[in-house]
Amino acid sequence: MQENKIKIANGELLTAEEQSKLTPDMVIEILKRGNEEFINNLAAKNEMNRVHNAAEGQHPEAVVLSCIDSRVPVENIFHRGIGDIFVARVAGNIVNPDILGSLEYACKVSGSKLIVILGHGRCGAIKSAIDNVKLGNITGLLEKIKPAVSRSKANFKGETTSSNPEFVEAVCHANVELMVNEVRKNSPVLKEMEDKREIKIIGGYYDMCTGKVEFSENI
Ligand SMILES: [Zn+2]
Repeated sequence: MQENKIKIANGELLTAEEQSKLTPDMVIEILKRGNEEFINNLAAKNEMNRVHNAAEGQHPEAVVLSCIDSRVPVENIFHRGIGDIFVARVAGNIVNPDILGSLEYACKVSGSKLIVILGHGRCGAIKSAIDNVKLGNITGLLEKIKPAVSRSKANFKGETTSSNPEFVEAVCHANVELMVNEVRKNSPVLKEMEDKREIKIIGGYYDMCTGKVEFSENI
């Protein structure tokens, strides 16, 4: 395990055996440390050598479901390189059957130990859901965020519009929490893995102004 820790600290690619020895809690620590490194201006660690080594196979430690927002480059904010994490991205970091299939692939087939549903501040998808925007396929996507809007409106004291950043943030947190539970409800495969403590499913919130990710491990 010690050797494994050194390898992660050096940013080297994991082997299948090393990945299998990781626990979900160890992966949470890896991502927390990576986010600290990102805030401290460490450059991304992708060299051609790594590109070639990763081409032989992948054993990522985690899978992150993020929004498509251009200001949330997921690998960067966790200081992860090629081959380190799976990333699924869709506006508003919502869950649907294809996203669930991707998360199941990452954990059940490829051995990842952690699922992070990552929301972020100032999210355009969240604001559009609050504003009840209707446009093409965006309408159906925003429907998936509406339960978070309704729940937040019931609990929020203050102006419940998209121009109130605090309300937008509250909806974002509620959306992450609801999506974590959507994963558990609609993926028996992942629920069973979590019940057996093979994986953890947690929430995260990225602050655009500070670069800091705050994790919600007990949703
Ligand atoms: Zn967003």
